[in-house]
Amino acid sequence: MQIDKARQYVYKPATAAHYSLQNFKPAIIKAVAQHENLYFSQKFTPVQFHPTLAFEPLHKQSEWQQSALQELLKYLKAHSPFYQRLFKEHNIDIRNIKTLQDMKYLPTTTKSDMQEHNWDFLCVTTDKIKEYTATSGTLGRPVSIALTENDLQRLAYNEQQSFLTADGKPEDCYQLMLTLDRQFMAGIAYYQGIRKLGAALVRTGPGLPAMQWDTIFRLQSNSIVAVPSFMLKMIEYAKEHGIDLHHTPVKKAICIGESLRQGDFELNTLGQNIHKEWPIHLYSTYASTEMQTAFTECGAGMGGHQTPDLIILEILDDEGNPLHSNQYGEVAITTLGVEGMPLLRYRTGDICTFYETQCSCGRYSRRLSPVLGRKQQMIKYKGTTLYPPAIFDILNSIPFIKEYVVEVFTNSIGTDELKLHINTPLPVDDCEHKLRPLLQSKLRVAPLLHFHSGSEMQQMQFPANSRKQVRFIDNRVTAL
Ligand SMILES: [Zn+2]
Repeated sequence: MQIDKARQYVYKPATAAHYSLQNFKPAIIKAVAQHENLYFSQKFTPVQFHPTLAFEPLHKQSEWQQSALQELLKYLKAHSPFYQRLFKEHNIDIRNIKTLQDMKYLPTTTKSDMQEHNWDFLCVTTDKIKEYTATSGTLGRPVSIALTENDLQRLAYNEQQSFLTADGKPEDCYQLMLTLDRQFMAGIAYYQGIRKLGAALVRTGPGLPAMQWDTIFRLQSNSIVAVPSFMLKMIEYAKEHGIDLHHTPVKKAICIGESLRQGDFELNTLGQNIHKEWPIHLYSTYASTEMQTAFTECGAGMGGHQTPDLIILEILDDEGNPLHSNQYGEVAITTLGVEGMPLLRYRTGDICTFYETQCSCGRYSRRLSPVLGRKQQMIKYKGTTLYPPAIFDILNSIPFIKEYVVEVFTNSIGTDELKLHINTPLPVDDCEHKLRPLLQSKLRVAPLLHFHSGSEMQQMQFPANSRKQVRFIDNRVTAL
């Protein structure tokens, strides 16, 4: 009985060209399964990968994805309490969803759904869970993402593909300047991905520029994985201590958490500030805990490549209709091959577009643009529509602003108002005098200014229990 059940919901290969990560031979699986039914159902669940799919034309990628989508829908209907209910409520007959275009008939899912019904997304029994990760939730409580052994394998494969896309080689040595604990999925993903790539790694963790530089020179780390704003701290330290940034062992940086580029793929101010001082190759990445998959730039730096065997990408308008390439909308993803908590048409809240032309690296896979901003963080200011990253970019370009936090709140007449919290080495009056005309010309708005000492700013940017540096505070009264 169990073996039948397991087989029924296994993701079946769509073509003979499929690759299995674990390189299992079907005959062996069958033989083992006949003797150990339970073993079969526990070990050989939905993981099928196709590492060369990104290099195949888009219609081939779509064919593969359509087949994987069908398997996913069957899997969700059989195992996901959340999607079972959703399909029922919306009278969805999954047999009618045959192509990727048919996906528009399926309802979308949001982070609020995950927050309110976290464990209804779980498709396996708890004994199959091998790691619990978490991501901050929109309503304050964290969202748990539970991974099975297969999901951890998938995560490793995903990140291996990601590092390969970013010109990673087995002879590289990656210094990981990020946390590997606090339930942070990305940390463990990088760790596993680098191991799978066959490269060496050094877990230095976040912070401490002096220690980072010392380790780089001692172990000759030629690659780093880091948050771009921390790289600025590394640069500052290097300049103060006579380290020649044109001659360090580091040749490339995989940049996480912050955007490096603007819409036309040119480096934004943050990217420029890094690159002009420390001329190494910068690779931007885009990912989230929920999607368990990364979009990573290749050497061409023309957007994050989709990994087509792991994720379906849609860009949606406000009504949930798919948009075409070059049109900006909300990123929605559908995970492929996830066993614990798969997601169907999950709206990320990030505003992007995508490109479908073949990349100079040879891949045909879609490329995701830099993130314009978060949908929920869109600021309507005196007839102008703004996203926080555009404000960050301007503030990053002003040398006498050392640190900042952008706050938006609802004013007495019920519209959005901006307040900039600033730490400057200049006398406050002097700074304000210089800053006002700059903001007026570059931002075309006149926000309220609030000046803080370094320690006050530190408290604001790194509140207790926050894993990431806070750059934006939304104190608006919402209609939620
Ligand atoms: Zn490329």
